[in-house]
Amino acid sequence: MVSLRFSLTTIAVTDTQEGYRIVTSSERGLLRPQVRAMLGPMDVGQVTGESGIHAEVKGIALAIQLKLKPLLVASAGRICDDCAGFLNRVGIPYTDCAT
Ligand SMILES: [Zn+2]
Repeated sequence: MVSLRFSLTTIAVTDTQEGYRIVTSSERGLLRPQVRAMLGPMDVGQVTGESGIHAEVKGIALAIQLKLKPLLVASAGRICDDCAGFLNRVGIPYTDCAT
């Protein structure tokens, strides 16, 4: 598996029922060029986003915004308690580098 961990940035990949994968980061704005370069035709990269919102939450929000049904969130970092709580509340399973 390719490491998607860049310094303090966490990348999350949200699989959707429609087959698209939403790729988000904990950074503000566009994904870094190194991450964008890895995106495939079915990958949708974050183009905007607030800093301070975790990649996992952004992935779910972007999927819903695009009217896609999120199925699973995979985080390149360790999912924090806040994100785990959020994902549990919305009923989306998740996996991270610790699992
Ligand atoms: Zn988090």
